[in-house]
Amino acid sequence: MHEIGAEPLPQPTPAQPTPAQPTALALTPAQERTLALLRRSGEPMVFPEAFVEHLRAEATTAAAELSERLGGETLWVSKSFLARVHGCEVQHMQPDDFSWRPATAAGFVAHKAIELALNWRGEPAPSEVVDQALARLADQPDAKGSFVAGLTDADWAELRSRAVDRCTKFLQDFPPLPLSAQPVLEAAAKWRPPGTIELSSKADLVIGKPAGRESRLLIVDFKSGYRSHHHRDDLRFYAVVQTLRQAVPPRRLVTYYLDYAESEVEDVTEGTLQSGLNRALEGIEKHIELTVEGRQPVKRVGVACRWCPLQHECTEGRAFLHGDDQPDVEP
Ligand code: SF4
Repeated sequence: MHEIGAEPLPQPTPAQPTPAQPTALALTPAQERTLALLRRSGEPMVFPEAFVEHLRAEATTAAAELSERLGGETLWVSKSFLARVHGCEVQHMQPDDFSWRPATAAGFVAHKAIELALNWRGEPAPSEVVDQALARLADQPDAKGSFVAGLTDADWAELRSRAVDRCTKFLQDFPPLPLSAQPVLEAAAKWRPPGTIELSSKADLVIGKPAGRESRLLIVDFKSGYRSHHHRDDLRFYAVVQTLRQAVPPRRLVTYYLDYAESEVEDVTEGTLQSGLNRALEGIEKHIELTVEGRQPVKRVGVACRWCPLQHECTEGRAFLHGDDQPDVEP
């Protein structure tokens, strides 16, 4: 059996000996390579019910205890929250001054465009679906809509260019997704046990149709920069949220690097889920120590120094950046 979700993907047309008008079903080598990593094969994956229930009970008990220590504060835990609190604690304690820029907004515009492309009548042109995505986003009554509606001409052009680049790479290099596999772009998942803590995730792409207790879901994050171990942590957190929410773990986690048309793939295991949950609970505990219990934050230099508001006054951060020859990575 070779399936990406519930239904078999179209199989590639055998190579033609002559030139070359590839049919609509012919896959490129890059698509073939990724498809091979996404396929389900072998026996259905089913996690022991006792393990899943134990994980959920452990998470529920720990969240209740941590809620008590928060003293009434509501805490939304996301992948970026965990990345910050496990990174530089001094930066974590700064007010969140995030605002969209063309570089950071290109992801959600491209995702909207891909969502349109998956349902497009006929063959979608990347620039066409990006323009439609921008128009629809500008009408949204939220922060993303306000950002897109208020763009200057130059920022609009930059955002469009970046989104077209991502959308083109996805449509050209990622294997086609049959709608029967129920692909969802920007798939939000939340878990809120009794108490004041909520875990929330928003995966770039989730593929797969549930079937009882069988683990079928693929969780995919798209990245435009370089590989980082943080990407695996992000996906493990998504897997934990999905497991707590549905009581069925996903089966595989994929970080897809658009510029390289390559993937990092990790099968979900009991160890993956346990370490993802431990990291989430440790992150919440660190936040409580810092914000409620008065522990002094610890500086940790790293890639995040590049967009830290304190970098001009932070000796360690400046020294790190001065000697840092790592390639540019978007947050
Ligand atoms: S510049 Fe780096 S080390 Fe300094 S506070 Fe910011 S993130 Fe931390």
